[in-house]
Amino acid sequence: MNKITNHMPTAQLQALDAAHHMHPFSTQNDFATRGARVITSARGVFLRDSEGQEILDAMAGLWCVNVGYGREELVEAAARQMRELPYYNTFFMTTHIPAIALAAKLAELAPGDLNHVFFAGSGSEANDTNIRMVRTYWAEKGQPERNVIIARWNGYHGSSMGSGSLGGMVGIHSQGGLPIPDILHIGQPHWWAEGGEMSPEEFGLMRARELEEKILEVGPERVGAFIAEPVQGAGGVIIPPDSYWPEIQRIVDKYGILLIADEVICGFGRTGNWFGSQTLDIRPHIMTIAKGLSSGYQPIGGSIVCDEVAGVLAACEFNHGYTYSGHPVAAAVALENLRILEEERIVETVHDETAPYLKQKFESLADHPMVGEARIVGMMGSIALTPDKAARAKFKADAGTVGYITRERCFANNLIMRHVYDRMIVSPPLVISKSEIDLLIQRAWQSLDEAMAQVKAEGLWESA
Ligand SMILES: *Cc1c(COP(=O)(O)O)cnc(C)c1O
Repeated sequence: MNKITNHMPTAQLQALDAAHHMHPFSTQNDFATRGARVITSARGVFLRDSEGQEILDAMAGLWCVNVGYGREELVEAAARQMRELPYYNTFFMTTHIPAIALAAKLAELAPGDLNHVFFAGSGSEANDTNIRMVRTYWAEKGQPERNVIIARWNGYHGSSMGSGSLGGMVGIHSQGGLPIPDILHIGQPHWWAEGGEMSPEEFGLMRARELEEKILEVGPERVGAFIAEPVQGAGGVIIPPDSYWPEIQRIVDKYGILLIADEVICGFGRTGNWFGSQTLDIRPHIMTIAKGLSSGYQPIGGSIVCDEVAGVLAACEFNHGYTYSGHPVAAAVALENLRILEEERIVETVHDETAPYLKQKFESLADHPMVGEARIVGMMGSIALTPDKAARAKFKADAGTVGYITRERCFANNLIMRHVYDRMIVSPPLVISKSEIDLLIQRAWQSLDEAMAQVKAEGLWESA
Protein backbone atom coordinates (compact mmCIF):
# COMPACT_ATOMS: atom_id res chain seq x y z
CA MET A 1 0.00 0.00 0.00
CA ASN A 2 1.22 3.51 -0.80
CA LYS A 3 2.86 5.52 1.92
CA ILE A 4 0.95 8.48 3.23
CA THR A 5 2.89 11.59 2.43
CA ASN A 6 0.86 14.59 1.48
CA HIS A 7 -1.33 15.59 4.36
CA MET A 8 -1.50 17.63 7.53
CA PRO A 9 -1.66 16.04 10.97
CA THR A 10 -4.92 14.24 11.59
CA ALA A 11 -6.11 16.64 14.30
CA GLN A 12 -5.72 19.59 11.97
CA LEU A 13 -7.65 17.84 9.19
CA GLN A 14 -10.40 16.96 11.64
CA ALA A 15 -10.64 20.55 12.88
CA LEU A 16 -10.96 21.93 9.34
CA ASP A 17 -13.48 19.21 8.51
CA ALA A 18 -15.62 20.06 11.53
CA ALA A 19 -15.41 23.79 10.79
CA HIS A 20 -16.20 23.79 7.08
CA HIS A 21 -17.46 20.48 5.76
CA MET A 22 -21.16 19.74 6.30
CA HIS A 23 -21.59 15.96 6.33
CA PRO A 24 -24.51 13.94 4.95
CA PHE A 25 -26.68 11.97 7.38
CA SER A 26 -24.70 13.19 10.41
CA THR A 27 -25.01 15.43 13.44
CA GLN A 28 -22.49 18.10 12.56
CA ASN A 29 -21.55 18.94 16.14
CA ASP A 30 -20.23 15.40 16.62
CA PHE A 31 -17.34 16.17 14.29
CA ALA A 32 -16.03 18.91 16.56
CA THR A 33 -16.15 16.74 19.66
CA ARG A 34 -14.94 13.44 18.18
CA GLY A 35 -13.26 14.08 14.87
CA ALA A 36 -13.97 12.04 11.75
CA ARG A 37 -11.72 9.20 10.70
CA VAL A 38 -9.75 10.49 7.71
CA ILE A 39 -9.48 7.94 4.91
CA THR A 40 -6.49 8.60 2.72
CA SER A 41 -6.08 5.68 0.31
CA ALA A 42 -7.32 2.21 -0.48
CA ARG A 43 -6.38 -1.02 -2.27
CA GLY A 44 -8.49 -4.09 -2.86
CA VAL A 45 -10.82 -4.43 0.13
CA PHE A 46 -8.66 -2.37 2.52
CA LEU A 47 -8.82 1.31 3.38
CA ARG A 48 -5.97 3.22 4.97
CA ASP A 49 -6.55 6.15 7.32
CA SER A 50 -4.41 9.17 8.16
CA GLU A 51 -2.92 7.32 11.13
CA GLY A 52 -1.74 4.49 8.89
CA GLN A 53 -4.32 1.97 10.10
CA GLU A 54 -5.55 -0.63 7.59
CA ILE A 55 -9.27 -1.15 7.71
CA LEU A 56 -11.22 -4.00 6.11
CA ASP A 57 -14.08 -2.29 4.30
CA ALA A 58 -16.94 -4.74 4.66
CA MET A 59 -19.34 -2.12 3.25
CA ALA A 60 -17.57 -1.50 -0.11
CA GLY A 61 -17.75 2.22 0.62
CA LEU A 62 -21.49 2.80 0.51
CA TRP A 63 -22.32 -0.55 -1.12
CA CYS A 64 -20.68 0.54 -4.33
CA VAL A 65 -17.02 -0.44 -4.76
CA ASN A 66 -17.89 -3.78 -6.35
CA VAL A 67 -14.56 -4.36 -8.12
CA GLY A 68 -12.54 -3.17 -5.12
CA TYR A 69 -10.23 -0.20 -4.72
CA GLY A 70 -7.20 0.69 -6.79
CA ARG A 71 -8.15 -0.57 -10.25
CA GLU A 72 -5.75 1.17 -12.63
CA GLU A 73 -7.91 0.38 -15.68
CA LEU A 74 -10.65 2.63 -14.31
CA VAL A 75 -8.16 5.43 -13.72
CA GLU A 76 -6.92 5.02 -17.28
CA ALA A 77 -10.44 4.98 -18.71
CA ALA A 78 -11.18 8.30 -16.97
CA ALA A 79 -7.92 9.91 -18.08
CA ARG A 80 -8.35 8.73 -21.65
CA GLN A 81 -11.90 10.08 -21.83
CA MET A 82 -10.98 13.39 -20.22
CA ARG A 83 -8.34 13.94 -22.88
CA GLU A 84 -10.68 12.98 -25.69
CA LEU A 85 -13.90 14.68 -24.60
CA PRO A 86 -14.19 15.68 -20.91
CA TYR A 87 -17.74 16.88 -21.20
CA TYR A 88 -20.58 17.24 -23.56
CA ASN A 89 -24.32 17.05 -22.97
CA THR A 90 -26.90 14.76 -24.45
CA PHE A 91 -29.72 17.33 -24.71
CA PHE A 92 -30.86 18.95 -27.95
CA MET A 93 -30.13 16.27 -30.53
CA THR A 94 -26.52 15.58 -29.58
CA THR A 95 -24.88 12.46 -28.21
CA HIS A 96 -21.42 11.03 -27.60
CA ILE A 97 -19.71 7.68 -27.79
CA PRO A 98 -19.42 6.78 -24.06
CA ALA A 99 -23.15 7.31 -23.46
CA ILE A 100 -24.06 5.34 -26.59
CA ALA A 101 -21.74 2.46 -25.69
CA LEU A 102 -22.85 2.30 -22.07
CA ALA A 103 -26.57 2.41 -22.93
CA ALA A 104 -26.11 -0.39 -25.46
CA LYS A 105 -24.09 -2.46 -22.98
CA LEU A 106 -26.71 -2.04 -20.25
CA ALA A 107 -29.45 -3.06 -22.68
CA GLU A 108 -27.48 -6.22 -23.38
CA LEU A 109 -26.90 -7.04 -19.70
CA ALA A 110 -30.36 -6.21 -18.38
CA PRO A 111 -32.99 -8.97 -18.47
CA GLY A 112 -36.07 -9.10 -20.67
CA ASP A 113 -36.91 -6.09 -22.81
CA LEU A 114 -35.23 -3.55 -20.56
CA ASN A 115 -33.50 -1.98 -23.54
CA HIS A 116 -33.45 1.78 -22.95
CA VAL A 117 -31.42 3.88 -20.54
CA PHE A 118 -32.05 7.35 -19.13
CA PHE A 119 -28.90 8.54 -17.36
CA ALA A 120 -28.62 10.47 -14.11
CA GLY A 121 -25.81 11.43 -11.78
CA SER A 122 -26.96 9.31 -8.83
CA GLY A 123 -29.57 6.89 -7.54
CA SER A 124 -31.62 9.73 -6.04
CA GLU A 125 -31.74 11.55 -9.34
CA ALA A 126 -32.64 8.36 -11.18
CA ASN A 127 -35.59 7.74 -8.86
CA ASP A 128 -36.75 11.33 -9.33
CA THR A 129 -36.62 10.57 -13.05
CA ASN A 130 -38.71 7.46 -12.43
CA ILE A 131 -41.47 9.42 -10.69
CA ARG A 132 -41.75 11.84 -13.58
CA MET A 133 -41.34 9.09 -16.19
CA VAL A 134 -44.08 6.87 -14.74
CA ARG A 135 -46.52 9.75 -14.39
CA THR A 136 -45.75 11.02 -17.89
CA TYR A 137 -46.15 7.51 -19.29
CA TRP A 138 -49.65 7.19 -17.87
CA ALA A 139 -50.58 10.72 -18.92
CA GLU A 140 -49.47 9.94 -22.47
CA LYS A 141 -51.61 6.80 -22.35
CA GLY A 142 -54.60 8.99 -21.53
CA GLN A 143 -54.71 8.01 -17.84
CA PRO A 144 -53.28 11.06 -16.05
CA GLU A 145 -55.11 10.11 -12.86
CA ARG A 146 -52.76 7.14 -12.45
CA ASN A 147 -50.22 9.23 -10.57
CA VAL A 148 -50.10 7.28 -7.31
CA ILE A 149 -46.86 5.41 -6.65
CA ILE A 150 -46.80 2.86 -3.87
CA ALA A 151 -43.58 2.22 -1.99
CA ARG A 152 -42.62 0.69 1.36
CA TRP A 153 -41.92 1.85 4.87
CA ASN A 154 -38.22 1.53 5.62
CA GLY A 155 -37.36 1.33 1.94
CA TYR A 156 -34.55 3.56 0.74
CA HIS A 157 -34.57 5.27 -2.63
CA GLY A 158 -32.41 8.35 -2.04
CA SER A 159 -32.77 11.61 -0.15
CA SER A 160 -33.89 14.22 -2.69
CA MET A 161 -37.51 15.47 -2.52
CA GLY A 162 -38.82 12.81 -4.87
CA SER A 163 -36.63 9.86 -3.99
CA GLY A 164 -36.83 10.64 -0.28
CA SER A 165 -40.62 10.59 -0.64
CA LEU A 166 -40.49 7.18 -2.31
CA GLY A 167 -38.34 5.92 0.53
CA GLY A 168 -40.06 5.09 3.78
CA MET A 169 -37.57 6.49 6.26
CA VAL A 170 -39.38 8.48 8.93
CA GLY A 171 -36.21 10.45 9.70
CA ILE A 172 -36.16 11.71 6.12
CA HIS A 173 -39.89 12.41 5.93
CA SER A 174 -39.72 14.47 9.11
CA GLN A 175 -37.49 17.13 7.55
CA GLY A 176 -38.34 19.42 4.64
CA GLY A 177 -41.96 18.63 3.87
CA LEU A 178 -41.84 15.08 2.54
CA PRO A 179 -43.45 12.99 1.19
CA ILE A 180 -44.65 14.81 -1.91
CA PRO A 181 -48.31 14.10 -2.81
CA ASP A 182 -49.54 10.75 -4.09
CA ILE A 183 -46.69 8.63 -2.81
CA LEU A 184 -48.10 5.98 -0.45
CA HIS A 185 -46.38 3.35 1.66
CA ILE A 186 -47.07 -0.22 2.73
CA GLY A 187 -45.32 -2.42 5.31
CA GLN A 188 -41.94 -4.05 4.76
CA PRO A 189 -41.36 -7.85 4.71
CA HIS A 190 -39.20 -7.73 7.84
CA TRP A 191 -40.17 -10.97 9.56
CA TRP A 192 -37.57 -10.90 12.37
CA ALA A 193 -38.71 -7.54 13.71
CA GLU A 194 -42.39 -7.49 12.76
CA GLY A 195 -43.49 -11.05 12.06
CA GLY A 196 -44.77 -11.83 15.55
CA GLU A 197 -46.12 -15.36 15.83
CA MET A 198 -46.50 -15.87 12.08
CA SER A 199 -44.18 -18.08 10.07
CA PRO A 200 -41.90 -16.17 7.69
CA GLU A 201 -43.93 -17.50 4.74
CA GLU A 202 -47.28 -16.40 6.16
CA PHE A 203 -45.86 -13.04 7.06
CA GLY A 204 -44.31 -12.55 3.60
CA LEU A 205 -47.69 -13.22 1.98
CA MET A 206 -49.45 -10.87 4.36
CA ARG A 207 -47.03 -8.04 3.65
CA ALA A 208 -47.27 -8.60 -0.12
CA ARG A 209 -51.07 -8.49 0.07
CA GLU A 210 -50.85 -5.04 1.64
CA LEU A 211 -50.04 -3.92 -1.90
CA GLU A 212 -53.36 -5.25 -3.17
CA GLU A 213 -55.21 -3.71 -0.23
CA LYS A 214 -53.61 -0.34 -0.91
CA ILE A 215 -54.44 -0.55 -4.62
CA LEU A 216 -58.09 -1.29 -3.81
CA GLU A 217 -58.18 1.44 -1.19
CA VAL A 218 -56.99 4.18 -3.58
CA GLY A 219 -58.70 2.68 -6.61
CA PRO A 220 -56.86 0.60 -9.19
CA GLU A 221 -57.42 3.29 -11.83
CA ARG A 222 -55.31 5.72 -9.79
CA VAL A 223 -52.20 3.57 -9.20
CA GLY A 224 -49.30 3.96 -11.64
CA ALA A 225 -46.47 1.98 -10.10
CA PHE A 226 -44.98 0.08 -7.21
CA ILE A 227 -41.33 0.61 -6.33
CA ALA A 228 -39.15 -1.58 -4.13
CA GLU A 229 -35.61 -2.78 -3.65
CA PRO A 230 -35.40 -6.53 -4.44
CA VAL A 231 -33.57 -6.78 -1.10
CA GLN A 232 -33.80 -3.70 1.14
CA GLY A 233 -30.31 -2.36 1.72
CA ALA A 234 -30.15 0.76 3.87
CA GLY A 235 -33.22 -0.45 5.78
CA GLY A 236 -30.96 -3.14 7.29
CA VAL A 237 -30.46 -5.76 4.55
CA ILE A 238 -33.91 -7.22 4.90
CA ILE A 239 -34.12 -10.41 2.83
CA PRO A 240 -37.82 -11.05 2.24
CA PRO A 241 -39.44 -14.44 2.91
CA ASP A 242 -39.66 -16.61 -0.23
CA SER A 243 -43.41 -16.08 -0.41
CA TYR A 244 -43.13 -12.31 -0.79
CA TRP A 245 -41.99 -11.46 -4.32
CA PRO A 246 -44.10 -14.04 -6.23
CA GLU A 247 -47.20 -12.55 -4.60
CA ILE A 248 -46.08 -8.98 -5.36
CA GLN A 249 -45.50 -9.98 -8.99
CA ARG A 250 -48.98 -11.54 -9.15
CA ILE A 251 -50.58 -8.34 -7.85
CA VAL A 252 -48.57 -6.05 -10.13
CA ASP A 253 -49.60 -8.20 -13.13
CA LYS A 254 -53.25 -8.39 -12.07
CA TYR A 255 -53.70 -4.61 -11.82
CA GLY A 256 -51.41 -3.75 -14.74
CA ILE A 257 -49.29 -1.32 -12.77
CA LEU A 258 -45.63 -0.68 -13.45
CA LEU A 259 -43.00 -2.36 -11.30
CA ILE A 260 -39.87 -0.37 -10.54
CA ALA A 261 -37.04 -2.45 -9.09
CA ASP A 262 -34.57 -0.19 -7.32
CA GLU A 263 -31.37 -2.07 -8.17
CA VAL A 264 -29.03 0.64 -6.93
CA ILE A 265 -27.51 -1.78 -4.42
CA CYS A 266 -28.66 -5.15 -5.79
CA GLY A 267 -27.47 -4.48 -9.35
CA PHE A 268 -24.10 -5.47 -10.80
CA GLY A 269 -23.50 -8.67 -8.94
CA ARG A 270 -24.33 -7.82 -5.36
CA THR A 271 -26.86 -10.63 -4.92
CA GLY A 272 -24.86 -13.20 -6.90
CA ASN A 273 -26.47 -12.47 -10.27
CA TRP A 274 -26.15 -9.41 -12.46
CA PHE A 275 -29.38 -8.01 -11.06
CA GLY A 276 -31.40 -8.58 -7.90
CA SER A 277 -34.47 -8.99 -10.11
CA GLN A 278 -32.90 -12.21 -11.42
CA THR A 279 -32.12 -13.53 -7.94
CA LEU A 280 -35.63 -12.71 -6.71
CA ASP A 281 -37.22 -13.74 -10.03
CA ILE A 282 -39.19 -10.57 -10.75
CA ARG A 283 -39.97 -8.75 -14.00
CA PRO A 284 -39.64 -4.99 -13.54
CA HIS A 285 -40.61 -2.42 -16.17
CA ILE A 286 -37.95 -0.02 -14.89
CA MET A 287 -34.75 -0.65 -12.96
CA THR A 288 -32.98 2.09 -11.02
CA ILE A 289 -29.19 1.75 -11.17
CA ALA A 290 -26.21 3.61 -9.65
CA LYS A 291 -23.53 2.59 -7.10
CA GLY A 292 -22.00 -0.64 -8.52
CA LEU A 293 -22.55 0.64 -12.08
CA SER A 294 -19.20 2.45 -11.82
CA SER A 295 -18.03 0.71 -8.63
CA GLY A 296 -18.26 4.21 -7.16
CA TYR A 297 -15.25 5.47 -9.15
CA GLN A 298 -17.48 8.07 -10.80
CA PRO A 299 -20.92 9.38 -9.83
CA ILE A 300 -23.44 7.93 -12.28
CA GLY A 301 -26.91 6.44 -12.11
CA GLY A 302 -29.83 5.82 -14.39
CA SER A 303 -33.10 4.11 -15.22
CA ILE A 304 -33.20 1.07 -17.47
CA VAL A 305 -36.61 1.12 -19.12
CA CYS A 306 -38.65 -1.54 -20.93
CA ASP A 307 -39.76 -1.30 -24.57
CA GLU A 308 -43.38 -0.48 -23.72
CA VAL A 309 -42.66 2.48 -21.42
CA ALA A 310 -39.84 3.82 -23.60
CA GLY A 311 -42.04 3.44 -26.66
CA VAL A 312 -44.87 5.51 -25.21
CA LEU A 313 -42.48 8.20 -23.95
CA ALA A 314 -40.72 8.33 -27.30
CA ALA A 315 -43.65 10.17 -28.87
CA CYS A 316 -43.62 13.10 -26.45
CA GLU A 317 -41.02 15.64 -25.41
CA PHE A 318 -39.93 14.51 -21.95
CA ASN A 319 -39.00 17.76 -20.19
CA HIS A 320 -36.47 16.23 -17.87
CA GLY A 321 -32.72 15.70 -17.67
CA TYR A 322 -29.55 16.60 -15.86
CA THR A 323 -26.49 18.51 -17.03
CA TYR A 324 -24.52 15.39 -16.27
CA SER A 325 -26.94 12.82 -17.74
CA GLY A 326 -24.62 10.31 -19.43
CA HIS A 327 -21.50 12.29 -18.45
CA PRO A 328 -18.78 11.01 -20.80
CA VAL A 329 -16.12 10.41 -18.15
CA ALA A 330 -18.54 8.68 -15.79
CA ALA A 331 -19.94 6.62 -18.68
CA ALA A 332 -16.45 5.59 -19.85
CA VAL A 333 -15.52 4.50 -16.34
CA ALA A 334 -18.81 2.60 -15.92
CA LEU A 335 -18.23 0.83 -19.21
CA GLU A 336 -14.72 -0.20 -18.16
CA ASN A 337 -16.10 -1.34 -14.80
CA LEU A 338 -18.63 -3.56 -16.59
CA ARG A 339 -15.84 -4.95 -18.74
CA ILE A 340 -13.88 -5.88 -15.61
CA LEU A 341 -16.93 -7.49 -14.00
CA GLU A 342 -17.59 -9.49 -17.14
CA GLU A 343 -14.11 -10.49 -18.30
CA GLU A 344 -12.88 -11.39 -14.83
CA ARG A 345 -16.08 -13.35 -14.28
CA ILE A 346 -16.56 -11.58 -10.95
CA VAL A 347 -20.31 -12.15 -10.77
CA GLU A 348 -19.88 -15.85 -11.53
CA THR A 349 -17.13 -16.18 -8.94
CA VAL A 350 -19.36 -14.54 -6.35
CA HIS A 351 -22.23 -16.84 -7.29
CA ASP A 352 -20.26 -20.09 -7.41
CA GLU A 353 -17.45 -19.63 -4.91
CA THR A 354 -17.09 -16.65 -2.62
CA ALA A 355 -20.73 -15.99 -1.74
CA PRO A 356 -21.37 -19.62 -0.69
CA TYR A 357 -18.19 -19.45 1.41
CA LEU A 358 -19.21 -16.14 2.97
CA LYS A 359 -22.72 -17.48 3.63
CA GLN A 360 -21.40 -20.44 5.57
CA LYS A 361 -19.08 -18.26 7.67
CA PHE A 362 -21.54 -15.41 8.09
CA GLU A 363 -24.39 -17.64 9.22
CA SER A 364 -22.11 -19.04 11.93
CA LEU A 365 -22.30 -15.60 13.58
CA ALA A 366 -25.79 -16.67 14.67
CA ASP A 367 -24.00 -18.86 17.24
CA HIS A 368 -22.84 -15.72 19.02
CA PRO A 369 -24.89 -15.09 22.19
CA MET A 370 -25.85 -11.55 21.11
CA VAL A 371 -26.91 -12.52 17.57
CA GLY A 372 -30.49 -13.58 16.86
CA GLU A 373 -30.30 -14.27 13.15
CA ALA A 374 -27.66 -13.97 10.47
CA ARG A 375 -28.91 -13.83 6.89
CA ILE A 376 -27.14 -13.17 3.65
CA VAL A 377 -27.78 -13.27 -0.07
CA GLY A 378 -24.81 -13.01 -2.40
CA MET A 379 -22.59 -10.36 -0.91
CA MET A 380 -25.14 -8.51 1.24
CA GLY A 381 -26.01 -9.70 4.71
CA SER A 382 -27.16 -8.65 8.16
CA ILE A 383 -27.34 -9.87 11.72
CA ALA A 384 -29.92 -8.99 14.34
CA LEU A 385 -28.58 -8.08 17.78
CA THR A 386 -30.75 -9.26 20.62
CA PRO A 387 -30.57 -9.91 24.36
CA ASP A 388 -32.91 -12.92 23.93
CA LYS A 389 -32.76 -14.99 20.73
CA ALA A 390 -35.71 -17.25 21.41
CA ALA A 391 -38.07 -14.32 21.93
CA ARG A 392 -36.56 -12.28 19.02
CA ALA A 393 -36.45 -9.56 21.67
CA LYS A 394 -35.43 -5.99 21.10
CA PHE A 395 -33.15 -4.26 23.58
CA LYS A 396 -34.84 -2.05 26.14
CA ALA A 397 -32.37 0.75 25.36
CA ASP A 398 -33.31 3.12 22.52
CA ALA A 399 -33.16 1.35 19.16
CA GLY A 400 -29.66 1.69 17.76
CA THR A 401 -27.85 2.05 21.10
CA VAL A 402 -26.41 -1.46 21.00
CA GLY A 403 -25.88 -1.33 17.25
CA TYR A 404 -23.87 1.85 17.67
CA ILE A 405 -21.73 0.32 20.42
CA THR A 406 -21.08 -2.68 18.18
CA ARG A 407 -20.20 -0.51 15.20
CA GLU A 408 -17.72 1.44 17.33
CA ARG A 409 -16.08 -1.83 18.42
CA CYS A 410 -15.85 -2.88 14.75
CA PHE A 411 -14.24 0.47 13.91
CA ALA A 412 -11.75 0.01 16.73
CA ASN A 413 -10.93 -3.44 15.34
CA ASN A 414 -10.39 -2.05 11.84
CA LEU A 415 -13.54 -3.48 10.38
CA ILE A 416 -16.16 -1.33 8.69
CA MET A 417 -19.54 -2.83 9.37
CA ARG A 418 -22.51 -0.44 9.54
CA HIS A 419 -25.44 -0.58 11.91
CA VAL A 420 -29.07 0.13 11.12
CA TYR A 421 -30.68 0.47 14.53
CA ASP A 422 -29.68 -2.84 16.16
CA ARG A 423 -28.89 -4.70 12.95
CA MET A 424 -25.33 -4.97 11.70
CA ILE A 425 -24.87 -5.08 7.96
CA VAL A 426 -22.17 -6.11 5.51
CA SER A 427 -21.76 -5.57 1.79
CA PRO A 428 -18.09 -6.13 0.96
CA PRO A 429 -16.42 -5.58 -2.41
CA LEU A 430 -17.35 -8.48 -4.68
CA VAL A 431 -13.67 -9.30 -5.11
CA ILE A 432 -13.18 -10.19 -1.45
CA SER A 433 -11.12 -13.40 -1.16
CA LYS A 434 -11.74 -16.37 1.11
CA SER A 435 -8.90 -15.40 3.44
CA GLU A 436 -10.26 -11.84 3.64
CA ILE A 437 -13.67 -13.31 4.44
CA ASP A 438 -12.04 -15.24 7.29
CA LEU A 439 -10.55 -11.99 8.59
CA LEU A 440 -13.91 -10.25 8.31
CA ILE A 441 -15.63 -12.94 10.36
CA GLN A 442 -12.83 -13.05 12.92
CA ARG A 443 -12.97 -9.27 13.45
CA ALA A 444 -16.77 -9.33 13.54
CA TRP A 445 -16.78 -12.05 16.20
CA GLN A 446 -14.17 -10.21 18.27
CA SER A 447 -16.14 -6.95 18.00
CA LEU A 448 -19.36 -8.71 19.02
CA ASP A 449 -17.61 -10.14 22.08
CA GLU A 450 -16.33 -6.73 23.09
CA ALA A 451 -19.65 -5.04 22.39
CA MET A 452 -21.54 -7.62 24.43
CA ALA A 453 -19.18 -7.12 27.37
CA GLN A 454 -19.70 -3.36 27.15
CA VAL A 455 -23.48 -3.71 26.82
CA LYS A 456 -23.54 -5.83 29.97
CA ALA A 457 -21.15 -3.52 31.84
CA GLU A 458 -23.39 -0.55 31.02
CA GLY A 459 -26.49 -2.37 32.23
CA LEU A 460 -28.03 -2.49 28.75
CA TRP A 461 -28.48 -6.28 28.53
CA GLU A 462 -32.21 -6.07 28.99
CA SER A 463 -35.18 -6.94 26.78
CA ALA A 464 -37.75 -4.35 25.85
C1 LIG B 1 -28.03 4.54 -2.28
C2 LIG B 1 -29.37 4.24 -2.80
C3 LIG B 1 -30.10 5.17 -3.56
C4 LIG B 1 -29.64 6.57 -3.72
O1 LIG B 1 -28.49 6.68 -4.48
P1 LIG B 1 -27.60 8.01 -4.36
O2 LIG B 1 -26.57 7.79 -5.42
O3 LIG B 1 -27.07 8.06 -2.96
O4 LIG B 1 -28.49 9.17 -4.65
C5 LIG B 1 -31.28 4.77 -4.13
N1 LIG B 1 -31.75 3.53 -3.95
C6 LIG B 1 -31.09 2.62 -3.24
C7 LIG B 1 -31.66 1.25 -3.11
C8 LIG B 1 -29.90 2.94 -2.61
O5 LIG B 1 -29.27 2.06 -1.86
